[in-house]
Amino acid sequence: MCENNKIKTIGVLTSGGDSPGMNAAIRSVVRTAIFNKKEVIGIRRGYEGLVNRLFIPMQSYSVGKIISLGGTMLKTARCPEFKEKKYRKQAYNNLRNSGIDALVIIGGDGSFRGAKCFSEEYDIPVIGIPGTIDNDIYGTDMTIGFDTALNTAVEAIDKLRDTADSHNRIFFVEVMGRDAGHIALNTAVASGAEAVLIPEINTSLDSLYEYLMIERRKNKTSGIVIVAEGEKQGNTFEIAAKMKERLPQYETRVAILGHIQRGGSPSCYDRVLASNLGYYAVKGLLEGQSKVMVGKVNSKYIYTPFEEALSKHPSFHEEYIKLTKILSI
Ligand code: ADP
Repeated sequence: MCENNKIKTIGVLTSGGDSPGMNAAIRSVVRTAIFNKKEVIGIRRGYEGLVNRLFIPMQSYSVGKIISLGGTMLKTARCPEFKEKKYRKQAYNNLRNSGIDALVIIGGDGSFRGAKCFSEEYDIPVIGIPGTIDNDIYGTDMTIGFDTALNTAVEAIDKLRDTADSHNRIFFVEVMGRDAGHIALNTAVASGAEAVLIPEINTSLDSLYEYLMIERRKNKTSGIVIVAEGEKQGNTFEIAAKMKERLPQYETRVAILGHIQRGGSPSCYDRVLASNLGYYAVKGLLEGQSKVMVGKVNSKYIYTPFEEALSKHPSFHEEYIKLTKILSI
């Protein structure tokens, strides 16, 4: 790595919603920094820890055996105070007083908004690592935790299919995704669902009904409709109730997968991604990068300015809606 001698101590924190693989990213940041003879300080509870100086020195052994653990050993938090200038100043003073001269922020788009703001106000290099199960960040094909969340959801939906089939039921399964349907689209294809509703695309309940009723589907003994949390036509219970009126021949049920999608041991994919992003985050800092997020695009690790990552939308597989229907006839 090209040494940036100005950086002596790197601070690392996890912020916002947690995701499986954040620990693998922390481990990678800590060990890559130590390999490069830098000190590392762990900052607990995200920006709250910056503001309140919740700092812990990290050694190589501090991150032993965490690669397989879900959650984040540094804890995370939402910190509304960080949106205020005076608390960001307090955070900066804490960093200076503790000798931290560079930051790695692991989190989602909200955390990057904070990182952008802070790095524009103060002369301290900051790099972001995308950690969120939602996969809703521009500048990386996958975010840390997305793959694990998909596997968790698909495993649960497979189980729901068994019981749906036994009872001639249609299950409306809500998966996470307040603003983005990435989890819904992928779990729909992977679980052989009949249909998928996502916030980005308006699918009328009339067309959903027509599809479920088409001739060739009449012999089906169960149905799975995946609904993203942020679906605009109402919550999953409301949608299921409306469909029940039209489908009296089926029993309908709702399953909300909820927070189980955030937990669990990270998949191999997420561990490898997190390990690489942690490495490239430290490499970037030591090579003079700042105000950027590190991501993996087309098998290459690249740095995208926060500005761009926050203003552009990642592409999503709209065509999976059609694919789900075609493959479930
Ligand atoms: P995520 O990173 O998972 O999207 P949030 O949206 O909750 O999570 O953001 C995490 C934290 O980032 C917030 O609690 C806040 O401390 C900080 N943050 C978010 N937006 C801003 C902003 N515009 N300015 C400063 N800090 C922000």
